[in-house]
Amino acid sequence: MAARLLSGHEAAEAVYAELKARLQGLPFTPFLRVLRLGEDPASVAYVRLKDKRARALGYRSQVEVYPEDFPEEALLRRIQELNADSEVDGILVQLPLPRHIRPERVLEAIDPLKDVDGFHPLNVGRLWSGGEGLFPCTPLGVVRLLKHYGVDLKGKEAVIIGRSNIVGKPLAALLLREDATVTLAHSKTEALQEVARRAEVLVVAAGRPHLVGKDWVRPGAIVVDVGINRVGEKLLGDVHPEVAEVASALTPVPGGVGPMTVAMLMHNTLKAALLRRHGASS
Ligand code: NAD
Repeated sequence: MAARLLSGHEAAEAVYAELKARLQGLPFTPFLRVLRLGEDPASVAYVRLKDKRARALGYRSQVEVYPEDFPEEALLRRIQELNADSEVDGILVQLPLPRHIRPERVLEAIDPLKDVDGFHPLNVGRLWSGGEGLFPCTPLGVVRLLKHYGVDLKGKEAVIIGRSNIVGKPLAALLLREDATVTLAHSKTEALQEVARRAEVLVVAAGRPHLVGKDWVRPGAIVVDVGINRVGEKLLGDVHPEVAEVASALTPVPGGVGPMTVAMLMHNTLKAALLRRHGASS
C-alpha cells in the first residue's frame, strides 16, 4: 500500500485563505520587517519567499539587507529601533548569521511581542509552560499540516529525530501540548532505528539525506520529513522514498513542511500584531 502524500502546499493554501479572511476584518495592516546579512544564496531565496508571500496576503513587508561584515552592535541598535517603532508588528532576523555575530544576543534583543520566529527565551519558556506566545514556524507548520489532514495526536506515540532549538525541541513541546507521548531522539540516541519503529507519528529533522529507510518505520505510521538537503542539483529529505511502502502517510520533499514554515510565519505575523494590540490573538 502506498502512503498518502500530505501536501504542504494544500495545507498552506488553507492557512492563507483563513488569514486573508481575518485580515479583511482588521482596521490595520500587519507590518513585517525582515533583516538579512550577507548574500548566502539559501537565505536570499528564503527571505524573498517570505516577503513575496507577505505582500501577496496584503501585509506590509520590508526587507533590510546589510553587508556580511555588518557589526553586531549596529545590528542590535537597528533591532532596538524596530522594537520602538509602533508601526512594526514582526521582526525576523534571517539565520544563519555571519560568524562574528552571536545569535543569542540578536534573538534576545528582539521584543518578544514582535518575535515572529519564536526564538526569544521568553517565548521558549511560554511554549514549554503552556502559555500564549509566538512559537517557531517549522514545528508549528508540522502540527498544522497534521491537523489539516485530520491526524489526532492525543495519546499517540510520537518520535522526533533531531533536537535543534529551531525544529526538534520546540516540536517536542508542541506535540506535548497536543497530548502526544513524545520521544526526542538525536545523534547520541542508542538503537535509534528501534526507537523510530515505536512511533505512530515519526518526525525526522536530522539534516541527513535519506537517513530513515523503510526498516525504521512502524507499518501504518505517519511520517513527517523536515529535512532539506541539497545534494548536487537535487533537494533530498531525511526520509528515503521507499518509506512510502510501509507508512500510511508521508510528507514530500520539496512540497511538505517547507511551504508550511512560510505559512506559519504569516500566521505569527498576524498573531504578533494582535497580541501587541490586545494581549490576545483572537
Ligand atoms: P541541526 O543540524 O541544527 O540539528 C540536527 C539534529 O539532528 C541534531 O539535534 C542532531 O543531534 C540530530 N542528528 C544529526 N544526525 C543524526 C543522526 N545520524 N541520527 C540521529 N540524529 C541526528 O538541524 P536543523 O536546523 O534542526 O534542521 C534539520 C533539517 O531540517 C535540515 O535538513 C534542515 O535543512 C531542515 N529544515 C527544514 C525546514 C523547513 O522549513 N522544511 C526548516 C528548518 C530546518
